[in-house]
Amino acid sequence: MTTATLYRSTRPGPGISFELYPPRTPKGEATLTRTVGALAEIDPDYFSITYGASGSTRTTSRDLIGRILTDTPITPLAHLTCVGACEDDLAEYVSSLLQAGVRDFLALRGDPPAGQPDWRPHPEGLTRASQLVQLLRRLAAEHLGTDGADVSISVATYPGGSYDDAGRPVVAQDDVSALLEKQAAGADFAITQLFYDARHYAELVRAARAAGVHIPIVAGLIPLTDPGRLRRMVELTGVAVPPELLTHLDTAPDKEEAYRRGLAASVQLVHDVLEHGAPGIHFYTFNSSRAVLDLLHASGLR
Ligand code: FAD
Repeated sequence: MTTATLYRSTRPGPGISFELYPPRTPKGEATLTRTVGALAEIDPDYFSITYGASGSTRTTSRDLIGRILTDTPITPLAHLTCVGACEDDLAEYVSSLLQAGVRDFLALRGDPPAGQPDWRPHPEGLTRASQLVQLLRRLAAEHLGTDGADVSISVATYPGGSYDDAGRPVVAQDDVSALLEKQAAGADFAITQLFYDARHYAELVRAARAAGVHIPIVAGLIPLTDPGRLRRMVELTGVAVPPELLTHLDTAPDKEEAYRRGLAASVQLVHDVLEHGAPGIHFYTFNSSRAVLDLLHASGLR
């Protein structure tokens, strides 16, 4: 079973998956090895492996995918971005992954490099994730000799963190249109950017369904146990953390109490998104297993 059918199967319980990134240092390498071992033990549905902006971690991402394939029974799902690369180059990389046995992809646009005002997109490159979805389908058909259906392609989607004047969550219409375009290009399911209020997830799903999106929308979550990380994620994603959550964590008498408070808030968020019908939860792990395992146990999911 590829991840394409996972969220449509009738088995009980939500899909559980984890995001990993390729390590940058020997210490990070050792941490990752422990994390993969600990997370593999709970038999997740897949590990997704990030791909550095503009392909900067191409080799290390492929190495990590190879390790997941050979050292664990867990399916690897390869992130892939298209911004800044020419189509032939992307095709070569995808072909090498298909040859290695990878069948699951997350097709992303990626972000132009920050702080490089002279940067220009590749003249023979792709500019949208929907084009990468089409390229992946075509390459899968060429390499696997089928209509490309043996390959699962997921895409990103964005609940955001904005509210209207009445305090209701608001989702950007462009992001819903982008998701519809990615579905039309052949995407099998979507994974959300992180969010902190389950009502944003519910609003995204409502708006997407109203626009004609029928593919499963998996909730992407981070454990809310580390206020420093939450602040860094605001800079990286632009999604605001509710101030009351930060105050609740900041006013804990010590780190362990802050952790316990964050864990309780995370359990509530997990339960809320499942109540809103999330078919799966994708955890951004930051290559650390403690918080996601505690969260899974405390939520009753493992
Ligand atoms: P697209 O879907 O192409 O959208 C790009 C922009 O165009 C958006 O603003 C969108 O609203 C607009 N747009 C597209 N189509 C339409 C349309 N039809 N109508 C109107 N507007 C449209 N980045 C990495 O570099 N490496 C990673 O490994 C990585 N992993 C990620 C994993 C997840 C789950 C998520 C949510 C994001 C990840 N990212 C990663 C970040 C991602 O590359 C950025 O968020 C990027 O800015 C947008 O990528 P996209 O695939 O959503 O782009």
